[in-house]
Formats: sequence, structure tokens, C-alpha cells
Amino acid sequence: MISYEEAQALIARNIPRPQKEIVPLLASLGCVISEDIKSPHSLPVFDNSAMDGFTFLAEDTKSASPKNPLRLAICGMIKAGDPIVSLEPNKAWRIMTGAPIPHGADTVLAQEKAQVLQEVLILREPLVKGKNVRYKGEELKKGEKVISRGTAVTPATIGILASLGKKETPVYKKPRVALIATGSELAAPGTDLSSGKIYDSNSPMVSAALMQMGIRPVFVKRLDDQLKKINLVIAHALRESDLVILTGGVSSGDTDHVRPALKALDVETVFWKVSQKPGKPIYFGKKENTLVFGLPGNPAAVFTCFYEYVYPAIRRSMGFRDPYLDSKFLPAGESIEADPEKALFLKAKVGLSEGRPFVTALGGQSSHMISSLQAANGILVIPSNMSVEEGQKALVHLLPYEGTLAHES
Ligand code: AMP
Ligand code: MG
Repeated sequence: MISYEEAQALIARNIPRPQKEIVPLLASLGCVISEDIKSPHSLPVFDNSAMDGFTFLAEDTKSASPKNPLRLAICGMIKAGDPIVSLEPNKAWRIMTGAPIPHGADTVLAQEKAQVLQEVLILREPLVKGKNVRYKGEELKKGEKVISRGTAVTPATIGILASLGKKETPVYKKPRVALIATGSELAAPGTDLSSGKIYDSNSPMVSAALMQMGIRPVFVKRLDDQLKKINLVIAHALRESDLVILTGGVSSGDTDHVRPALKALDVETVFWKVSQKPGKPIYFGKKENTLVFGLPGNPAAVFTCFYEYVYPAIRRSMGFRDPYLDSKFLPAGESIEADPEKALFLKAKVGLSEGRPFVTALGGQSSHMISSLQAANGILVIPSNMSVEEGQKALVHLLPYEGTLAHES
């Protein structure tokens, strides 16, 4: 059986090269920029006022003194959005924040510092050239690189691109993902539970995890353990998607039809089974450029396997340079016993003790239990045979929500 590091490496090796596309500006949120972005113009686009006030030529105010006040006639008002006007010598314009500095002016005096009498500005001292002016190109020169290829698009990126006038973004494509939950015991949330049935929590949970990555699954299906039907739906998924996620039915029991179906459809197995808990019988395969994950059905196994394997696979295909969950070595809040053979992935919480971060394993670690995941902000990784003593540093993979360090609940 392979280790989880080997499994991650095998997945990484089989991810197709990220593909480029151009998408509408807002649709690029959460994607990775595929080409360097250069500014098509200077920013600011023109010299403009940083204040509401009065604008004039500083040189004209040289002679101003308390004894000999200077009087500049005010020509009128320039508002934000007005075109650039001209200023005659020894005159001033009233100017609003963001309005263009007139030709012939170079300085702005803030409104609250100005004395005005009958549309004449009275100055009792000379002013320094350039005061309260935002200069054309002081933030960006025309042609200057603003955002590098490989950058993740955040709301800030969207704002920056919009300030450059962009309505589209060159990014790497998001994969089309199909999600199939298998299990004859599964009922849709919202329906009555008949005898022997349980609610399908996997497909809503994985859908939500995908949606948080900006991916809406191309389809989500819930199937009974019937080879024929499973085969048919997987065949459809292989045609319609770049990545197929299956949950349940991936072990070797009599009702586990996922691997036989994949085999019949010529999906090549890259690995099956990883020395880990939960999620030992995880399957990874591919057919041409479509990747297939078969996740063991226990919900905690699905959750862990999604974030340890599927999440990085998707992010790598989207061009993220570091696709894995962020990781940290943090002191353990208590001793944790390792498994002699398997790596353990434990639902974990990173908290603060006297201002210092530490990690603790949550209750309810069995793979069929997920209620304690509500409090989790990390996955504690305990390699086989590497028990951790209280206070010793342990590896924790931080979940991609609730920021990095969570607050105490
Ligand atoms: P399996 O991997 O099919 O052997 O399923 C392992 C365990 O996970 C069984 O107890 C299943 O009932 C449970 N399980 C499988 N699929 C789901 C699902 N979609 N939602 C909740 N539990 C599931
Ligand atoms: Mg099953």
C-alpha cells in the first residue's frame, strides 16, 4: 500500500497542464491569472486634486505674506468628471476631489485652510508647488506590469483590473467536475427516511467545498449500488467533465461496484488504497485527460480525502503554484497516539493559549462521524508510528476557510 505522500505525488504527476481562457472580470474570482497584466494607461490617468479646495500656480503665490495678502480671482468650479480646463495667470479655480488639475495650475489649497471673500481667494503666505495633487502615473506608468502570471484573483485583483478598464481576465480554466454519490442506503435530505436509509451528506458537502472554490459541479447524482446504472452515469461523467468525484462503493465488498464500473469503462487505475485513516480504500484513476477520484463513503473520509487529494488536484489544474492546504507545525494540546501502520488524519482545531497557537484533536474521530467537523479548522496529520507528546510540534493542514487561526468558540 502506498503512503499519502506517494499518493499526493502520483496525483500531481497526472494532472494535465493548466489550460488558458479569457473570462468575464467577475467570473475570474478565485482563478489564477494566466498572463502578466500590464497597465494600458497611466494611473492616475491625469493630474487631479486630492482635496476639495482651490487650485492655482504656486509660482503666482510667491509674494503672499500676512502684511501683503495675495488676491486670486476664482474663475469657477471644477468637479470630478469635468474635462480639463485652463487657468489664467493670477487666478484660481475652486476644485473638488478627483477633478482634473487645470493646465497652468500645479497646487491645491484645502478648502478648510482657505479664506474666500466674494469669490476672491486670499493667501497670506506662498504655497509649495504640488501640494494636494495626485500626479498622472504616480501609481502606475503606462505599460508597467501590475499583476504577474500565477497570481490568484481576489476581490482586490478584481478592483485593480477594473481600474485598468478591463472587463475580462486571462486565467487558467477551472475544471468541469461531476459528482456521483453511490449507496442504496442514501436518501435526499428533505425526504422521509424509510427503514435502513440514511441521508446523503457527502454530495451536498462536496458540492459546497467545490462551490467555495468557485466551481459549480456540472452534475450531481445519487445512485443505488447497481453496477449497470453506475456504469452508465460514470460513462456520461467521463464525457462531460474533466474530473469525476465518486463517493462510496469503492472497497471490495459485494455491493462496491465503482471500481468494476471504472474498469469496464477503461479508466486506468493510478492507485487504490492509501495507508491512512480515514479513507484507506481511496481510488485515483484517469481516462485520457479526465481524472477520477473514488472516495470511501464514510463522510469524514470523504471530507479528509477531498481536502488532502481532490482540492490540491483541482488547484494544480487551475494553475495554483502551491495547491495544497497551508500547513503549520504547532504544539499539540495533548498527547496523540500514532497508528503503527497508517497515517492518521484527525479533525482538529487550532486555537490560542496565552496568545500562542496550538492544535488539538477534536472528539468524534470515527470516520462515520462528522458533527465535530463543525469546530474544525484543520486536519492534524500523525504519520504512522510517530506519536506526539503534549507540547510537541505536530503537522496541521489548515482548512481553506475561517482564515488561518480560528477564534475560540
Ligand atoms: P462505502 O464506502 O460505500 O462502504 O460506505 C461507507 C459508509 O459510508 C457506510 O456506512 C455508508 O452508509 C456511508 N455513506 C456512503 N455514502 C454516504 C453518503 N453519501 N452520505 C452519508 N454517508 C454515506
Ligand atoms: Mg456502500
